[in-house]
Amino acid sequence: MRTISFHTIGCRLNQSETAVIKNSFFDKGFKEVFPDKPADIAIINTCTVTARGDADTRRLISRILRTNPKTRIALIGCQAQVQRELLKELPNVHWIVGNEIKLDIVDIIKKVYRKKGPQVLVPPIKKDDFTINYSGIDKSHIRANLKIQDGCDFFCSYCEIPYARGRSRSRKFNDIMLEAARLIDAGYKEIVLTGINVGKYSCQNKHINEVVKKLIELQELKRLRISSIEPTTIDENLIHLMAKKKKLCRYLHIPLQSGSDRILKSMRRRYTSREFFQFISMAHKKVPDICIGTDVMVGFPGEREEDFQSSYNFLQQAPVSYFHVFSYSLRHKAKSRLLSNPVDQKDIIRRSKLLRELSTQKRRIYHQTLMDKTVDVLFEQKKEGVWSGLTDNYVRVYAKSRKNLANIIMPVQLKKVTDKGASGIVAR
Ligand code: SF4
Repeated sequence: MRTISFHTIGCRLNQSETAVIKNSFFDKGFKEVFPDKPADIAIINTCTVTARGDADTRRLISRILRTNPKTRIALIGCQAQVQRELLKELPNVHWIVGNEIKLDIVDIIKKVYRKKGPQVLVPPIKKDDFTINYSGIDKSHIRANLKIQDGCDFFCSYCEIPYARGRSRSRKFNDIMLEAARLIDAGYKEIVLTGINVGKYSCQNKHINEVVKKLIELQELKRLRISSIEPTTIDENLIHLMAKKKKLCRYLHIPLQSGSDRILKSMRRRYTSREFFQFISMAHKKVPDICIGTDVMVGFPGEREEDFQSSYNFLQQAPVSYFHVFSYSLRHKAKSRLLSNPVDQKDIIRRSKLLRELSTQKRRIYHQTLMDKTVDVLFEQKKEGVWSGLTDNYVRVYAKSRKNLANIIMPVQLKKVTDKGASGIVAR
């Protein structure tokens, strides 16, 4: 029996797809080994959203080959889709498989195991709605990802995803419901809806709100979370639903990217900073204790000091609880490669640092507002005698208990803000 290890670089959608791929290998003559163990085959689900994602592939291959220099590597997914020529040069690469057929990797490996040289299989990505044949059950995680959508039609100027993932398309509604039932049967209490642009879900006359409404009707499901969602693709009805239905997590992650309208325009984002501010203020007002997270990019070509200052002021004043800071990364197919006025690396580092500090402050302030409240925590794991889990509004909570709390939702009274989240006392 051949041994196989699975590795994921990048986003939650990649994670969910790796889970599906793992399940497709069961009963097909392969034995899964942990990622740090020697394997006959290693599958790397790649990412190309930033230069760092690209570099991670090379690093990961070196690490895998240190444990077994003979491992055959399969590079699948986004980087395989857009950088196949470059990937051919990497050591031990036997398969390069694009996004359209990466879920069929088990059949591909079985068919062409013995051929010499990398097999490059990168067909164009179809635009049709889709179904997924295998489940995304992944026993190494307490919360389940459920892919409902793929691709994007927005073509923001810095982004290569529409080329790597193709145009927006949606998973068939019935297939989503089938998968949700399978996940619930497997014992999952929280489902996270994932995709590239989930707010653009559109299939059989159903949109994101219908998907959410139908899923929260499922009795055994305790929580439904929407992962990152584009501004302009969500409406007030979804926010009303969040306010009304306990099952729908009070959580939004909406990428802002810049607080400067000049830069937003150059990025080809579809909103002004004022519109964004108004939307999240409305959500903040309507949904008590909602956690609103965002992403901000630093160093987009032409970003002047005053543009950065606009982003800083925006994030300081807006009701956001935390944000991720990314440095601009030149992508070969993205329109922004044609822009002049690159930002000095020193400025990028300084600006990023200032924003990261602000995010830490904002997260602490948000957590502070929750102290002494009793909140439901879905516990995940125990480390050094302390259990940790998440509230629906995305607070990482630490609490001691002698009981096995894995996959259990328990009320916890929050007592202290910590560097990593909040600590509290499990209610008896
Ligand atoms: S919305 Fe913009 S940033 Fe997001 S995947 Fe689509 S093109 Fe890329």
